[in-house]
Amino acid sequence: MDLLNTLVDKGLRREPLSRAEALAVLGTSDDDLLDVVAAAGKVRRHWFGRRVKLNYLVNLKSGLCPEDCSYCSQRLGSTTGILKYTWLKPDEASKAAAAGLAGGAKRVCLVASGRGPTDRDVDRVAGTIKAIKEQNEGVEVCACLGLLSDGQAERLREAGADAYNHNLNTSESTYGEITTTHTYADRVDTVQKAHAAGLSACSGLIAGMGESDEDLVDVVFSLRELDPDSVPVNFLIPVEGTPLAKEWNLTPQRCLRILAMVRFVCPDVEVRIAGGREVHLRTMQPLALHLANSIFLGDYLTTEGQAGKADLEMIADAGFEVEGAGEVTLPEHRASGGGCGSEGACGSEDVCGTATAAPVGEPRTDLVAVRRRGAGTDLAPNA
Ligand code: SF4
Repeated sequence: MDLLNTLVDKGLRREPLSRAEALAVLGTSDDDLLDVVAAAGKVRRHWFGRRVKLNYLVNLKSGLCPEDCSYCSQRLGSTTGILKYTWLKPDEASKAAAAGLAGGAKRVCLVASGRGPTDRDVDRVAGTIKAIKEQNEGVEVCACLGLLSDGQAERLREAGADAYNHNLNTSESTYGEITTTHTYADRVDTVQKAHAAGLSACSGLIAGMGESDEDLVDVVFSLRELDPDSVPVNFLIPVEGTPLAKEWNLTPQRCLRILAMVRFVCPDVEVRIAGGREVHLRTMQPLALHLANSIFLGDYLTTEGQAGKADLEMIADAGFEVEGAGEVTLPEHRASGGGCGSEGACGSEDVCGTATAAPVGEPRTDLVAVRRRGAGTDLAPNA
């Protein structure tokens, strides 16, 4: 297919795709799906080899959020029976992080519910970062604390944070349908603050919230403009007790196309499969490793992932290897500070035929389990 040859060439040269090309990837038929995966896989291997980076989530503070993000079980008014607890102490967080690191993770993602941290919260997280870094040499720490005020990104950087995560989640034009208590512009501002403070920016999306292909392309192109080092791709887990509980819109094939599109648009960026991997990709998870170079090990913030051991077996069985603590994730040009940039769109308009998408099957509510172990409980974490 001419389109795929063009996209591979562009991916290897870090040339930007046009919107039409990105939309065409989402519009490919199921008959062409393996060709799409193979093509995007060439780009993935060119920049990241067969390495899979493992990240480990520690939910520092769970539930009771005043914001109303429709996809989130920690939102105001959520009736999902999630674990609710206030800030973990530094040694509790460090213990949870150590379990993930022992399981093979090299980055720990410290997440707290809420609109954004107070300065006191930032101090508290600074203490936690210090404890984790003291006890685990070489660990990368990413903080995810919501919207940042002036000076807070710098404070986190000084405390030893390597990265800051704040997702755009969806397109600017549909953002107001998903959340009303803060704006898309607020989110962009926080990613820019993280960047400006010298933190590695991590920002991604959530697919499956009822958005169009155009919305998905919009948000991925906006991310390309922001130039984060890592782009987590979440597949909505429609959790009972949230407004999006009935949004079962994804198939494994659709998830693979979305990941391929993200890989082509952001060829040299860490593309991370985030929440919803087990629920929506299901037995197709190993194919997704040909597109993404990073996943979360173990459980998510409020729901349970597959056993950490199963993650490791899947990586080995698919012919990939866990990225070691001493290996640099990003390609040299990016690790040294030069990103893929946003040089404008190219002119190719090679669009393929009509999509024959697999029908969305029965909602797999049986695969959604609220987290009942790890941080905030007396039970061992999944790692
Ligand atoms: S995504 Fe974050 S800000 Fe939004 S409701 Fe959930 S915890 Fe609160």
